[in-house]
Amino acid sequence: MSTDWNAEEELKPLRLSCKSTDCSNNLHCFWQKKTRKIKAAHPFGKCRECGAELVDWERVHKRDFNDVKHTFESLKYEKIRHDFWHKEIDQYAVNHALKKGRIDLHKAAIHRLRKYVGKVPKMLDGKKPRYGDGQQTPYSGNSIYYAQHATASCCRNCIEYWHNIPQDRDLTEDEIAYLADLVMLYIEEKLPQLTDQAQKVSRIRRQPPENSSTE
Ligand SMILES: [Zn+2]
Ligand SMILES: [Zn+2]
Repeated sequence: MSTDWNAEEELKPLRLSCKSTDCSNNLHCFWQKKTRKIKAAHPFGKCRECGAELVDWERVHKRDFNDVKHTFESLKYEKIRHDFWHKEIDQYAVNHALKKGRIDLHKAAIHRLRKYVGKVPKMLDGKKPRYGDGQQTPYSGNSIYYAQHATASCCRNCIEYWHNIPQDRDLTEDEIAYLADLVMLYIEEKLPQLTDQAQKVSRIRRQPPENSSTE
């Protein structure tokens, strides 16, 4: 067995974020901080860790829903997307989705995207707004959260480099509609039992998972 790994790295808690990488398993992160220095060293689009070039950005950036299969395949080269495509949605979130039904869930996705990532925060001191690291999108408790991480609509960093939408303005309704379509496609793939209308679902007695919304 290989012991060729960094013991210090290993002691760090495993916290998945939009910037996580697992390059030895071909799971990367293509986000780059936009500074002139880094731009010169690693031109946009390569893995920030290992430099792998796997995505046809021009094609993905067209935001063509007819080409969504290719977009989804590309997203899965990133560690965080891959994990969210493959992990099971928690039972609380599954029940929430079934109780809403596809039509209302779609409305909820549009509402959430508009409210949490659609608006540029107004900064009183004139500083550039900070978008965090997908932290405005929890990791469990609602199928829409899972879908946002899987489709790179979790934060404005991810929306910028994946969907080619600049951070310094509000999202347009067309852009929100496109991202909501991606979200719904993910949910439909993960939850084939979802129906258009609400379903009756028996209550779960335990508390919702940590970090989830109550609604
Ligand atoms: Zn990599
Ligand atoms: Zn993100």
